[in-house]
Amino acid sequence: MSATRAYLFAHPAKHSLSPAMHNAALHALGIDARYEAREVSPKILGSALEGLRTSGAWGANLSIPHKEHALEWLDHVDDAARAIGAVNTVVVRDAALHGFNTDGLGFMRSLEQAGLMSVAGLEVLLLGAGGAARGVGYALRAAGARVAIWNRTYARAVQLAAELELEAVSDANLQSKVRAAQLLVNTTAVGLEDTRSSPLPDGLLPDDGWVCDIVYRPLETKLLRDAAQAGLQTIDGLGMLVHQGALALEKWLGAQGIAGKPDASVMRAAALERLGKA
Ligand code: NAP
Repeated sequence: MSATRAYLFAHPAKHSLSPAMHNAALHALGIDARYEAREVSPKILGSALEGLRTSGAWGANLSIPHKEHALEWLDHVDDAARAIGAVNTVVVRDAALHGFNTDGLGFMRSLEQAGLMSVAGLEVLLLGAGGAARGVGYALRAAGARVAIWNRTYARAVQLAAELELEAVSDANLQSKVRAAQLLVNTTAVGLEDTRSSPLPDGLLPDDGWVCDIVYRPLETKLLRDAAQAGLQTIDGLGMLVHQGALALEKWLGAQGIAGKPDASVMRAAALERLGKA
């Protein structure tokens, strides 16, 4: 039996696609190690992280509800993760805990894989101002996009826009901003396990360009279905999940001095198979 070297700490953890993705990637690389999801409530996050130091583990991914709270337990947090205010990957090096955020870069890689090679100068509208919007907004801005944020609760859009130096969009300006967007990204939870709801009012879509939904259950959300029917190019949310995972695994392997790069297509196939079963 292979030793477990990397974990997911989440609450709930049981529906996660990450074990299937990571174990498929490790197997394809011929590396004798396993990734395991652990049910970790906020109360025991500190002890779960402390336990990583001496357990021989490479590290852990963090998911809901731990990404923002974990920072206080870590010895080092990289600049991007600190600016985003969230850590999704912990790497153990010489018993010290290093925090990173691979969500933003994972999102950018998913755009590239879909054929959107550069966002520099692009008019981008983000829907949502929650945890996921932070990483996505940060990465888009760092890549030179002109990013505006709309959120159901306007005050949260204003707050996040101020933190990341983006523009906040009010309800009154939503229609014109949507129509002019060259890339529209849904980071709200609307559409999650719901094939009939879209974060946009009926009939409102960008005039041209790309629409991305980071929700991946279902893979084709109503927003993506509407966008495809209108002739817009679409990007699903599984790409972001796969690439943030591949980037995390790269970091763990790199810290261990293990050669090999995770194959994102192997990870996507494993996630798709698990989604079919979920
Ligand atoms: P979060 O921090 O709880 O934020 C939720 C966001 O959705 C907020 O902006 C909230 O607006 C908005 N929202 C919720 N219900 C809404 C409704 N009925 N109408 C309009 N807006 C609504 O969650 P999160 O961590 O950012 O995650 C958001 C979504 O992204 C989830 O569905 C998650 O599955 C997905 N996600 C995907 C990936 C990936 O790798 N593909 C990674 C992370 C997250 P208010 O501020 O007004 O409440």
